[in-house]
Amino acid sequence: MEKNVLVMIPGPTPVVKSIQGQMGRDIQAFGDPRFVKDYKELIDELGIVFNCSGQAFPIAGTGTLAMEMAIANTTKRGDNVLVVSNGFFGDRFIDICERKGLNVDVLGAEWGTCITPEEIDAKLSGKNYAAVTVTHVDTSTAVVSPIAEIGQVLAKYPDTIYIVDGVAATAGEFADVDGMGIDVMFTGSQKAFGVCPGMLIVWAGQKALERRKSLGTIPEFYVDFEKWLPIMNDPAKYFATPAINLVWAMKEALSIIKEEGLQARHDRHRKNSAAVRKALETIGLNVLAKPGCQASTLSVFVYPAGIDDAKFRSTMFAENVSVAGSLGAYAGKAFRIGHMGNITTGDMVTMLSAVERALKACGGQVKLGTAVGAYMEEMGN
Ligand code: PMP
Repeated sequence: MEKNVLVMIPGPTPVVKSIQGQMGRDIQAFGDPRFVKDYKELIDELGIVFNCSGQAFPIAGTGTLAMEMAIANTTKRGDNVLVVSNGFFGDRFIDICERKGLNVDVLGAEWGTCITPEEIDAKLSGKNYAAVTVTHVDTSTAVVSPIAEIGQVLAKYPDTIYIVDGVAATAGEFADVDGMGIDVMFTGSQKAFGVCPGMLIVWAGQKALERRKSLGTIPEFYVDFEKWLPIMNDPAKYFATPAINLVWAMKEALSIIKEEGLQARHDRHRKNSAAVRKALETIGLNVLAKPGCQASTLSVFVYPAGIDDAKFRSTMFAENVSVAGSLGAYAGKAFRIGHMGNITTGDMVTMLSAVERALKACGGQVKLGTAVGAYMEEMGN
């Protein structure tokens, strides 16, 4: 029998049965009127739920392709771009932008801390930028950016496109595209939507769509808004094959989100993340992200002295729970846990009890049940 492992990495996240069911459906032709109707409903509902009066583009691809799509449609060779980075994924924009021939300035935070709206304002007031990129939650540090406050700063700079990477955030952390003045936001299916990897969603506001128009023909093909706009308006048309079963899976994910309520979903993520931080701090792990900028969707925990990362994570795996290693300077010194999407209290308890046993097996001083008890206290159960 295949080993059943609880996936607690920061994406992909566990996929609930009703979403799996959509992935397993019999294929339909992309011109089948039943599929066309389903795709159109997904496109329109994504715009409504995340308050984007421009256009939502749910297409095949991953978060990295969405990053390219954001840059491709809003900038041209020689433009200035400001990359605001709180970690590894913020930095990914540097390479993407430099390959496109953009002039990149970087505002980088020490890992665990966050660039402030004031620092962004100071940078923008000194130079014209075609676009600014901000990572809502950086998956290397579990630092959350104040995207609403940054949006207020960006409102003073109408020529600058505000790009938000919501890959490790959207549908777990609060985001309101029009309300926050975001011009382009994007995510991937495999994170807080709780769907298998393979679909990206880009939300483009009116300003971003206008910027795209002003650029004329762009060098990129697959990610061009202008290529996809006719299909988003009428999915009976063809540009590139839609990820049919992922469309159905995303539709199911969205109906789960709507049933829970976006606010209730954010509250659940916030409460759960505070409880898991408290629980693991009680057994000697340290939260990398500083108070005030700790994400609700994932956490990075720094080991106490003497714990071997590889041994800890392989013991976790033997206990049937996958957690992720850390990146950059924290590789080997910390591990990462995803707690976003359709995760349950039962999943959390399973993961926490495995952490206790794995730490003990690695020589840590842990009284079994401590973290689980602290978690349950915090959750009010
Ligand atoms: N941005 C962030 C914040 C991410 O967490 C990730 C993936 N971990 C990406 C971008 C890249 O997404 P993908 O791996 O789906 O290409």
